[in-house]
Amino acid sequence: MQKKTKPVIRKRFGQNFLHDKNIIQKIIRSINPKIDDHLLEIGPGQGALTFPLLEHLKKIDVIEIDKDLSSRLQESNHSNNINIHCMDALSFDFKSVVKDNKKIRLIGNLPYNISTPLIFHILKSNSLFEDLHIMVQKEVADRMISGENKKTYGRLSIAIQARCNIKKLFNISPNAFFPKPKVISSLVRITPNNNLDEKILDSLDDILKTVFSKRRKKISNGLKDYFSKEEIKAMGIDCENRPENLTVKDYIKLSNKRCV
Ligand code: SAM
Repeated sequence: MQKKTKPVIRKRFGQNFLHDKNIIQKIIRSINPKIDDHLLEIGPGQGALTFPLLEHLKKIDVIEIDKDLSSRLQESNHSNNINIHCMDALSFDFKSVVKDNKKIRLIGNLPYNISTPLIFHILKSNSLFEDLHIMVQKEVADRMISGENKKTYGRLSIAIQARCNIKKLFNISPNAFFPKPKVISSLVRITPNNNLDEKILDSLDDILKTVFSKRRKKISNGLKDYFSKEEIKAMGIDCENRPENLTVKDYIKLSNKRCV
């Protein structure tokens, strides 16, 4: 950065900046960027990941909501190689940066306050991504990878696992950040599998919203606007079960059935 003054830290934007060089290198090795990859970073902040990534890349797209941080990146020595979109990632149209049909590799140390809605927004454009490497609170990562019959299992787990393969790579201590967050973070790798078509995924999202808004109710009650008890039973699903007892496969079966 060329400016001498330190940037103001804005809590409302979930700003916890990575400063541990070993952790930064470990993250870059996990991403394994190749010179022609199309990388898109959400929340570059002060460039903790952006600048080391640019040692491996020609160009990078970044989305940063903070005008001050965006103009610092614009004034940095790397500005020719950074395509800055100064805006809210929650309303970013990922299609707008696709070139030559090349898939995007998305990365981000996501602002904790909006990580879950941001993941749902990203999932809507699932088919545009080659992979995603994102840092989230460990608790959110645990929800993403959770299997059924656990407290951590819910809408997020099923929505992601139906669309993607997901792997938690490693945890990151609060000491790696400034200011220190109160929670442990995790780096996760998400690889879209694009196995299901849009119609089925829309139906899945509808079903998930409905049944998990009545999490304690029996599944036959949560699904009563979509299926009779007989129809649920015919799909091999026990009507006495609660939403967290159904597998991802069960939910895909229900979504498929709703679309025929
Ligand atoms: N990548 C940097 C690092 O690791 O040091 C910063 C990570 S910090 C946890 C999150 C970053 O996301 C901040 O730069 C913040 O300003 C930015 N941010 C917060 N909300 C955002 C939003 N809705 N859209 C885009 N960027 C956002």
